[in-house]
Amino acid sequence: MNWITNYVRPRINSLFSRREVPENLWTKCPDCGTMLFHRELSDNLNVCTNCDHHLAITPRERFTALFDGGVFREVKVPEPVADPLQFRDQKKYPDRMKAAQRSTGEKEAMLVAEGEIGRTPIIAAGQDFSFMAGSMGMYVGNAIIAAAERAVQTGRPLVLFSAAGGARMQEGILSLMQMPRTTVAVQMLKEANLPYVVVLTHPTTGGVTASYAMLGDVQIAEPNALICFAGPRVIEQTIREKLPEGFQRAEYLLEHGMLDRVTHRKAMKDELVSILRMLTGKPAPTRADLPAPVAEALPEPAPEPTAEKTE
Ligand SMILES: [Zn+2]
Repeated sequence: MNWITNYVRPRINSLFSRREVPENLWTKCPDCGTMLFHRELSDNLNVCTNCDHHLAITPRERFTALFDGGVFREVKVPEPVADPLQFRDQKKYPDRMKAAQRSTGEKEAMLVAEGEIGRTPIIAAGQDFSFMAGSMGMYVGNAIIAAAERAVQTGRPLVLFSAAGGARMQEGILSLMQMPRTTVAVQMLKEANLPYVVVLTHPTTGGVTASYAMLGDVQIAEPNALICFAGPRVIEQTIREKLPEGFQRAEYLLEHGMLDRVTHRKAMKDELVSILRMLTGKPAPTRADLPAPVAEALPEPAPEPTAEKTE
């Protein structure tokens, strides 16, 4: 026994073992405060195992759980002009973008994919709240148009998972222009007689609820999701009145006729399959354990987007 075994080695060991532990192994449920182990949480689709609170989930995680066998292919989205207004607040807009890309590993705030759910071919678009609050800029507009065009091209229904803090202020009026653009995209689906189903997740607010997120043939929401144009705090300050309990939450909106369904995240896939098969005149879903599709079985990828659609 000497100072090397007694002092140096434990110090070295503790240094190394400390490094091996990833930082966010545990997540605290924002509702009940239970500490949730990350693997247990992701196995449960980011729903609290204690109180059923629905925590945020990225589109990529959601799609992996949603599509049969976790197999899906991304649909290409035309790139818009970067930083058209040369916007700068405390940080430059391109710097904010880079930071968001680094922290999420995603290019932008919406992911579009095609694949099968319960052997029902669909196009899915998912908005990523962790990417600049899922804000709707030109890219998100392009993504919805690309999703709608791909749906029309392949004759598939479109399922959209919304989550947004509203329009992207760094793109000013150009972000607001995505409201009519996406409305036209939804209209394309209606003209092609294809179902458009919206799943509203927490929170869906601002310009997004004034356009594509409220135009679904069927409007589903996740439990307790905040869905509004102006948030409760703003309304309370404006009208100087106390708002009712659960105001602008999914269950409240369902009760008041704004939504068709409030569905638990774990029941969402089955519900979507049933609704989509019903709307497209397909026979009822088979609940048997079907083999997962292979990537090669997916249809041909969409052709390269043309330059005229990139504005
Ligand atoms: Zn909880």
